[in-house]
Amino acid sequence: MTLDVKHIRKEFKIFQEKVHGKPLVYLDSAATTLKPDRVCRIIETHYSREASNVHRGIHSLSEKATIAFEDSRALCQSFLGAQHREEIIFTSGTTAGINTVAQSLVKSGLISRGDKIVLTQMEHHANIVPWQMAADSCGAEIVVLPMDEKGQLKLEALPDLLDSKVKIVAVTMVSNAVGTINPVEKLISAAKKAGAMVLLDAAQAVAHSSINVQELDCDFLVFSGHKLFGPTGVGVLYGKKALLSQMEPAFGGGGMIRTVRFSGTTYGDLPDKFEAGTPHIAGAIALGEAIRFVMDIGLGDIIAYEKQLLEYGTAELEKVAGLVIIGTAEDKIPVFSFKLEDVHPHDIGSIFDEEGVAIRAGHHCCRPLMEFFKVPATTRASLSFYNTEEEVGKFVKAIYSVKEIFQ
Ligand code: PMP
Repeated sequence: MTLDVKHIRKEFKIFQEKVHGKPLVYLDSAATTLKPDRVCRIIETHYSREASNVHRGIHSLSEKATIAFEDSRALCQSFLGAQHREEIIFTSGTTAGINTVAQSLVKSGLISRGDKIVLTQMEHHANIVPWQMAADSCGAEIVVLPMDEKGQLKLEALPDLLDSKVKIVAVTMVSNAVGTINPVEKLISAAKKAGAMVLLDAAQAVAHSSINVQELDCDFLVFSGHKLFGPTGVGVLYGKKALLSQMEPAFGGGGMIRTVRFSGTTYGDLPDKFEAGTPHIAGAIALGEAIRFVMDIGLGDIIAYEKQLLEYGTAELEKVAGLVIIGTAEDKIPVFSFKLEDVHPHDIGSIFDEEGVAIRAGHHCCRPLMEFFKVPATTRASLSFYNTEEEVGKFVKAIYSVKEIFQ
């Protein structure tokens, strides 16, 4: 382990906060990651010293903001290994990215009546509902790839699912509810053989894995800045240039046009065509800083350290009588979803809060996955590289407190 976690934690002022008089143990990074001070500072600097709109002004501040905004796009491009800068579209987040692709594919006739859209049993609602809406609007059909009891996709079901009607496979790289890392390389290769496009939901993967869209050969990839130590309200949609160029924009407005007349409008080039309206300028710039932060630490070391946290946490949880871990895939990020005897996850969450331990209880926006595991909700602790084994210890201690209270 080469991560200096003690030093990294100093970069997060929030760790000085107390919850009910106790030090914060933040185990809710799958919901949103904490933000390092350097990311907060960039936002503050933009609004207090450089606030200006991008692309449209010729004054100095606007030029400065435009340069910072476009630098961030270039950073996102290299972070994802995209071939072209204009393949990076700033969105308001993963949800917006998926809705944009779904609506745009239908508008462009790339998905139409009788076509199929393949999703999986473990998708977040953000990767289900936009496709249902798109399918309803054009008469396409949703088909679901099942998973097994460990929370792993059943790839053996793919050959039967992937017929010539399948236009797109939209799949999460990592499950937010149970932490499974999906074998997306295999999925992509099967989808490509069947002539289908692939959209990867990288909302969870982005902070826990090294992504290269060219090596993966996915057609679209989406993520949110706030799951990558950046701000809420900003995200990235990557799309292959050849595809994005063919696609109709889902939203119209300022910034995305070439000419506008009442007799008709022509659209601008990529990426503008997909960026109608004033973007989240401070957000995009701060996302760039968040990416620099991650790159400075190094994803290789992050992945190795998180594996250690996962192994330690799993071993500790397995010792707790009456606790069942939901999601035991071979390949996981440090997410512990569990049920504890008959105690309701919300009760567990409240007791944890008293101990300063922040976790999440609920369906995690994955109702189909909950149905599969026959539970209405789980308690979920989701870790990041700023967490420590000592914090895992506090988390396990809090579980014993819950057991004692409910005995
Ligand atoms: N997909 C996955 C796998 C997620 O974990 C989330 C957020 N929990 C989303 C999509 C939606 O992300 P956002 O709310 O930032 O748009």
